[in-house]
Amino acid sequence: PETKYHGLYNHGATCYLNSVLQVLFMTEEFREAVIRLTNPSKEHIDHHLRQLFEELSHRTADPYDILRALEVNNVREQQDAAEYFERILRKTSGNAAKIFHGRLSHRTECLNCQTVTDSEGPFWHLPLELEDSPGENYSVENGINMFFTPTIFNGDNQVYCEICDVKVDATRKYVITQHPDVLLLMLKRFDFSYQFMSYIKIHCKADVPHTIRIPEVDQNQTYELYAVVEHFGDLRGGHYHAKIKSKDEGGKWFVFDDSSVTFYHLPGIATPLPKKNLKNSISFIRSHSAYLLFYRRKGEN
Ligand SMILES: [Zn+2]
Repeated sequence: PETKYHGLYNHGATCYLNSVLQVLFMTEEFREAVIRLTNPSKEHIDHHLRQLFEELSHRTADPYDILRALEVNNVREQQDAAEYFERILRKTSGNAAKIFHGRLSHRTECLNCQTVTDSEGPFWHLPLELEDSPGENYSVENGINMFFTPTIFNGDNQVYCEICDVKVDATRKYVITQHPDVLLLMLKRFDFSYQFMSYIKIHCKADVPHTIRIPEVDQNQTYELYAVVEHFGDLRGGHYHAKIKSKDEGGKWFVFDDSSVTFYHLPGIATPLPKKNLKNSISFIRSHSAYLLFYRRKGEN
């Protein structure tokens, strides 16, 4: 066999769930936290995940109990993988789910008195806006830089400052106040179009870098890509699968497509190169279907 990994049965149109379950299984910290749990509570689904992961270590597994626990009634209806990823985490005990948990602040700075106001909250993913401009590739790197670029409020858009007690010029920007161990980026392929007054899917090609750096003044946090959930086809139908890098198989990539798992040849190279060359030879994956990007936090540089 090509790989020691195993697939998941599809119950109709449940590839959206299978793809994120495989990412969770291949996220060692998550898998181990779920398996380690000694006294699982009934309100969480950890015990279902543990059972599934144990089965998945030996053979093709059946996610039926998870589907039931997530209250999926119609298995023939396509759902959003991002939504179900979050649903799983919300129903998982904090010990396992915290790996994906970060904190983000929307920080306002008054340009008059320099007072900084934080509006902070938890996040599971960062959403990146796509633009459907035919012929152009979307750069995730630019998207990240855009996300963290401050917005300036002046003129008619001035904001009220409590200290100055008047409307003032101000900047507002996102700051990660707590970096998650795994950072999930969501490319907003499913978006509402005011032109068509309906939801549409944006099909543009995206350049997904293997390494990203969060542009912050006082920090230099980098993350390394290890999984991509892709969506093929259009809004209401289509198909999901996951490309995932294996930690214990020398950094090889695999495609997890329901019950099938196959070796994935990274584009641009025919055969796997030694590890040290691999890092420098390919800097991104180009894909018109990349939707959820999972990055693992690297040690402080
Ligand atoms: Zn002020």
